[in-house]
Amino acid sequence: MIQVTNLVKSFGDRKALSGITFHISKGDICGYIGPNGAGKSTTVKILSGMLEPDEGEVIVNGVDVCANPDAVKPFLGYVPETGAVYEALTPREYLMLVGRLYGMKDSVIRERTDVMLEFFDLQDDGNEVMSGFSKGMKQKVVILSALLHDPVLFFFDEPLHGLDARSTVLFKELLFILARQGKTILYCSHLLDIVERVCTRLLVLRNGKIVAEGTIDELRELTKQDTLEDAFSILTESTDLRARAESLLKDLAELPVSI
Ligand code: ADP
Ligand code: MG
Repeated sequence: MIQVTNLVKSFGDRKALSGITFHISKGDICGYIGPNGAGKSTTVKILSGMLEPDEGEVIVNGVDVCANPDAVKPFLGYVPETGAVYEALTPREYLMLVGRLYGMKDSVIRERTDVMLEFFDLQDDGNEVMSGFSKGMKQKVVILSALLHDPVLFFFDEPLHGLDARSTVLFKELLFILARQGKTILYCSHLLDIVERVCTRLLVLRNGKIVAEGTIDELRELTKQDTLEDAFSILTESTDLRARAESLLKDLAELPVSI
């Protein structure tokens, strides 16, 4: 479903991606995990045709994304990391706008919107402008907008941002069912939160390179660790963090607070 070959992308002197290659099969929930700045969002922006790579090739559902960036959008549901919505609109107006951009009929959009708003307990907020919404409420609308046109493929970039515990569980259950229906999911996260529970395969990214890939068991075996959290710490060189926190507070204690 997704074949990425030797993707390279720099921003000025900063190399965000240094030759990324991976494959994702239909029906996979693939976790794309790595620390802040590893290159996760840059990768999905390229995969969704929003950003041009410097080098490399991306084939998504048979489409060469670099040559035809718009051809990927009809079958893609994308939740970008910004989670931005048009705040002057209500959820119903926003979903109507998104649905029309996909060429859907108004009556179909309305019907799907009703059931989707109810899923995330937003039925009473559907006609309120989103400028008054909490981060989590806006994030729910962004997630729903990715489901609206029933795409075969989803890119979720830190989708849990702002969601409460109940909505997180609802979202997790949704992922399972989508995968069971044969949808393909690329799930980016800097946290292992639900990654451990939902992903069938993981790609671990550090400094613009894939440093490991496999199932959770394979990553634990590779690093000789009992938990995914410990394996992830080793793969992303995030060990000894307590010593680092202690060292910061010790250094700060020795510095003056006021001049
Ligand atoms: P992640 O999503 O894994 O946290 P990103 O893909 O957002 O990481 O960023 C990877 C690297 O590319 C970071 O060093 C980031 O500062 C840099 N970067 C990303 N987008 C831009 C941009 N538009 N301009 C300059 N640097 C960028
Ligand atoms: Mg990101």
